[in-house]
Amino acid sequence: MTTTNTVISSNFIQNIINEDLKNNKNNSRVHTRFPPEPNGYLHIGHAKSICLNFGIANEYKGQCNLRFDDTNPSREETEYVESIQEDVKWLGFDWDDRMFYASDYFEQIYDYAVQLVKNGKAYVCDLTAQQMREYRGTLTEPGTESPYRNRSVEENLELFEGMKNGQFADGSRVLRAKIDMSSPNVNLRDPILYRIMRAEHHRTGNTWCIYPMYDYAHPISDALEGITHSICTLEFEDHRPLYDWLINALDMENRPQQIEFARLNVTNMVMSKRKLRLLVEEGLVDGWDDPRMPTISGLRRRGYTPEAIRDFCERIGIAKSNSTVDIAMLEHCIREDLNTKALRAMAVLRPLKVVIENYPEGQVEQLEIENNPEQPETGTRTIPFSREIYIEQEDFMENPIKKFFRLAPGQEVRLKSAYFIKCEQVIKDEQTGEIIELRCTYDPETKSGSGTSTRKVKGTLHWVSATHAVKAEVRLYDYLLLEGEQEVQEGEKDSKDDINPNSMEKLTSCMIEPSLANATPEKRYQFLRNGYFCLDVKDSTPELPVFNRVVGLRDSWSKSQKS
Ligand code: ATP
Ligand code: MG
Repeated sequence: MTTTNTVISSNFIQNIINEDLKNNKNNSRVHTRFPPEPNGYLHIGHAKSICLNFGIANEYKGQCNLRFDDTNPSREETEYVESIQEDVKWLGFDWDDRMFYASDYFEQIYDYAVQLVKNGKAYVCDLTAQQMREYRGTLTEPGTESPYRNRSVEENLELFEGMKNGQFADGSRVLRAKIDMSSPNVNLRDPILYRIMRAEHHRTGNTWCIYPMYDYAHPISDALEGITHSICTLEFEDHRPLYDWLINALDMENRPQQIEFARLNVTNMVMSKRKLRLLVEEGLVDGWDDPRMPTISGLRRRGYTPEAIRDFCERIGIAKSNSTVDIAMLEHCIREDLNTKALRAMAVLRPLKVVIENYPEGQVEQLEIENNPEQPETGTRTIPFSREIYIEQEDFMENPIKKFFRLAPGQEVRLKSAYFIKCEQVIKDEQTGEIIELRCTYDPETKSGSGTSTRKVKGTLHWVSATHAVKAEVRLYDYLLLEGEQEVQEGEKDSKDDINPNSMEKLTSCMIEPSLANATPEKRYQFLRNGYFCLDVKDSTPELPVFNRVVGLRDSWSKSQKS
C-alpha cells in the first residue's frame, strides 16, 4: 500500500511533488537534501533553502539529508562544517543520522568516471584553459571539438589513471564529458568532470590530486543518497540538462529530479559568501557572527529567534523568478515574535540625572511593573524608586518645541509605574553650559495605580533609580550596506564601497534597571520606548553587560502594507 501525503500546495514545488506522488514516482517517497559548500558561514538566503528542503520533507513525512558539498578543497574548512551544523540545528531542523559529505563518495565518483570513459562518454583533454575557452564557442556560435576528443578508450583509461596517480602537473589535463560541442547550451559542450589539483582536502587529506567538478559530483551524490527532488537555485537551470545527461549516461538506479527556485535577495544585505568572507578577512566586521552580518550566526547573536526567521522564510514564499525582499519584512517578523516573547524592562541609553527634591533622602520604594502586558501570565516585578533617577537626555528640552509632551521647565510628566514629576530647575556646567542635572518635585498623590489623582499628563517617561541602576553598554545598529546599494553584481564593484561607516553606535554609559543584571543571552527584552534587545554573548562581562539592539519598535513594513 502506498500512503499519499498530499499537501495542499502553496508553491510550485509542492505542485510538482503532489503530481509525482499521484503517479507513484519514486515509490511515492519524498527525499530532499540541503547541500552547503563548507566555504563560509550560512546566511539568511541559506535559511530559505533549509526551510524549504527540511520543510518539504516534514510536510510529506519524507527525509532531508545534510550534505556537505566539499568537492573543492582549496576553500573548505572544518570551522565552516561545524558552524553549518550548529546553524541548521538552531533553526530547528534535524537530519537524524543522515549527515554526509560529497567527499565520502570520491571513490565511487571516480569509478563512475572510469565507467563513462569505458563507454566512450568521457575523454582526457590536454587543451590549456585558454585554448579551452577559445574552443568553447559563444552563446551565438557553436564550439569546436577538441583535437583530443577522439582518443581511444584505452588511451583515455591510461591517462585518467595517470591523472589520479599524480603523473601530470596541476592543470595540464582534465577529464571531459563527450556530449556536444555544438549544443546551444554551453554547459553541454563537453564540460569538465575532473581536474588535477594538488591541494589538501579537509577530510581526505592528500589521498587525491584530482577532484570532481560540482556539476559532475552533485547528481551522483543525489542519486547515491536516493534523493527524489534536488532543489537548487535558479542559476542552475541551464545545468539541468547536464544533470540529467549524467544520470542517464551512468544509468543510475535512483533518478533524482532537479527543481530550481529563485534565490533570496534582501535589500541592504550582502548575500554572497565571497563578499561576506571579504568583510571578515579585512576586519570590517567582528567576525562571521558580527550582529550586523546577514549570517545565521550574526542574526542569532543580534537576538533574532529561529521562529522569526522561519516565519520570514514562510512569508516570502517560493517563486520561479528572482526578486528582492525589503529588509523591513524581516524586521517585521522579529518584532512580531518579540512583542509576545520579550520581557519589558527600563533602560536609559543616554542618562540625564534628575533629583526629586521633595522626595525623602534615603527612602526607597519598590514599585510594581508588568513584565509583558501582551502576556499577563508573565506577571509583575518590582523596581526600586528613589530620590535620584536617570531619564533619557532626549526626554528633556529646555526650550520645548511645540507638542513636546515630555519634560521641560515647569512642565509635568508621568514616570512609568511611578509618580508625576515637574521640572523646577536646570543645573548646568558653568564652563560648558552643558545640562548636568535637573531639579524636580514629585506629587505623592499621583502614584501609579493609586487612582487618587484626576489630573492628566500627556507624556510618560521610562527611568531608572540612580543608586540602584546597573551600568551597561548598548549597541545600536544600522544597515551594513548603504541604502539602495544592495548586492552589486559579482566582480562589478567592491562591496567595501557600499559599507555604511555608521552601522554601529556604541553607547557605553547606559543605565539599566537592576533586574537586568541577571539577563541571559537566551532571553529577549523590550527596553521601553527603545526597542528590542538581547545580551551579547561574546562581549558581555560581569562588570559591563553589553546589549545588542535587535530591532527598533517602529514597524515600517506593516505601515507600508496598509497604505
Ligand atoms: P554563494 O554563492 O554565496 O557562495 P552558494 O549558493 O554557493 O552561495 P552553497 O553553500 O552552495 O552556497 O548553498 C547551499 C544551498 O543553499 C544551495 O542549494 C543553494 O542553492 C542555497 N542557497 C544559497 N544562497 C541562497 C539564497 N540567497 N537563497 C536561497 N537559497 C540559497
Ligand atoms: Mg554553491
